[in-house]
Amino acid sequence: MIKVTAVRAGSIGEELGLTPGTELVAVNGRELEDFLDWEFLTADEEFTLLLRQPDGQEIEYEIERPLTEPLGVSVEPARIRRCANRCDFCFVDGLPKGLREVLYIRDDDYRLSFQYGNFATLTNLKPKDVRRIIEYRLSPLYVSVHATDPVLRRWLLRNPTAPDIVEQLSEFAADGIRFHTQVVLSPGVNDGAVLEHTLDDLYRLGTPILSVSVVPVGLTEFSKHSRVREPDTAECRSAVGQVEAWQARALGERGGRWVHGADELYLRAGLELPPEESYGEFEQIENGVGSVRYLQRRIREDAPLFRDWAGRRVGIVTGTSMGRLMPQVIAPLREAAGAEFELIVVENGLFGPRVTTAGLLPGKSIAASLAGRTGLDFALLPGEAVNDDLLFIDNMSAADLAEQLPMPIRFSTVFSDALEAGVAA
Ligand code: SF4
Repeated sequence: MIKVTAVRAGSIGEELGLTPGTELVAVNGRELEDFLDWEFLTADEEFTLLLRQPDGQEIEYEIERPLTEPLGVSVEPARIRRCANRCDFCFVDGLPKGLREVLYIRDDDYRLSFQYGNFATLTNLKPKDVRRIIEYRLSPLYVSVHATDPVLRRWLLRNPTAPDIVEQLSEFAADGIRFHTQVVLSPGVNDGAVLEHTLDDLYRLGTPILSVSVVPVGLTEFSKHSRVREPDTAECRSAVGQVEAWQARALGERGGRWVHGADELYLRAGLELPPEESYGEFEQIENGVGSVRYLQRRIREDAPLFRDWAGRRVGIVTGTSMGRLMPQVIAPLREAAGAEFELIVVENGLFGPRVTTAGLLPGKSIAASLAGRTGLDFALLPGEAVNDDLLFIDNMSAADLAEQLPMPIRFSTVFSDALEAGVAA
């Protein structure tokens, strides 16, 4: 059973008398467990729906509708599937105490992998989940592989019962499921020959493996430093060399580069980022793969729009990692906009300086960096630093931050999204 959370006015859902709180019990006699059942089992022109109204009354409807007419019903989000692993590099272990409770949840959920591109390990799948992935064609899925050697992978995940990932992927692939995969690189564990073996195994699985990203492990002051460390420059360079050798092979044999190093891998290696065309469709942009080249492309495509900022002085807030790469993004932006941009690099005061990503910047650190600055028409803040409720990781709200600052703020991920954006206040 799942609950209705909202019903659009004038929709079929409203005609049926559904209201927030209505329980959707079954479709065609099949019990509903979560949003996936709702979306997939109602994707027909005709079906029967059993529901229970808030007063307890059960009603069954025979529904007939053209597929072009949506039901207009929103349902409650799924209860997050918890992770069965205990990786030494887990971000949750690297969190300081006292943050929002939800941040301490280790999720490992194939449904969120399909819906939002969250990486999952597939170590907690039950036979029923396997059947659903195949029946509903949940593809592509985003999978954390890390290493294909089953023993080593179990060790990395700290999960002695983790199934063989190559077997899992190839069984799903036979049923038409496709995958974007990642390897979080832990030096001395899954780099070097192990990485080579992993890439070889994934490549052998053929075209169902749509892409692989190689991401250096990222730690905070609070991580388990006695058990895991970040790769050094030489180790990152070596991994880039392996990635690029596999890219050359894949490009020659399959017409696409297939495997990519995260921007952070190149940054730590002290190497220039690959050109824009090497990232294909930027399939792993959310995983920090090709962010800089993607931003440059968006600036080029959106160039005429930026004329609205002509003559302005704009602050661009970012973390220390992107701060080093930003000058190559700001140069074309300055040219397109005819505006002045000031880069404001903020060190993370909550996790410590080794956490360099803009998405984890606390509101307090941003407030401290912008306080007392004059001459800015407004400041652009990284959109990924706030959640849907506009809360930073340290629980500060965007409105509270805006109140403390001498300039208006706007959130942005690709610059052009801040052109029309209202100023948080
Ligand atoms: S798979 Fe590993 S890193 Fe991911 S949530 Fe679980 S323990 Fe943490």
